[in-house]
Amino acid sequence: MKEDCIFCRIANGQIPSATLYEDENFRVILDLGPASRGHALILPKEHYQNLLELDDTLAAGVIPLAKKMGAAMSKALGCAGFNLVQNNGEAAGQTVPHFHVHIIPRYGEEPRIVTWNPGKASQDEMDQIVEAVRAEL
Ligand code: 5GP
Ligand code: ZN
Repeated sequence: MKEDCIFCRIANGQIPSATLYEDENFRVILDLGPASRGHALILPKEHYQNLLELDDTLAAGVIPLAKKMGAAMSKALGCAGFNLVQNNGEAAGQTVPHFHVHIIPRYGEEPRIVTWNPGKASQDEMDQIVEAVRAEL
């Protein structure tokens, strides 16, 4: 763990948090600045700055855990749905540089949280993108 990382300290129990779930690899806590009632964060106990750094074995556990939490939160909180949000890099809105996944319960009355204005992409541009990305895989 990284001593100067707030999420390392929370995930490893050095700073108390409202913990919904904990196992060997993860802690799930309530967000201190919730977007909605029950907004939670999945934190790995080891420090990884973002998804690109995250260990693959741990990464494989994230979606099953999000599913388990989403199911429990839906029952317990009565939300009608939930968003999973995961920001990578400041440009994407990441403010804490320790990998985390937001689970944001939705009750039906709030505006969309994850939204964008649909743009346009030409066939040429899409062809270029496909070629460029496939070359890096
Ligand atoms: P990001 O913008 O990096 O994806 O999300 C960071 C989230 O962490 C924000 O929603 C913010 O409210 C939450 N957060 C920041 N510091 C703390 C803290 O000390 N404790 C808890 N529980 N949440 C925090
Ligand atoms: Zn950390």
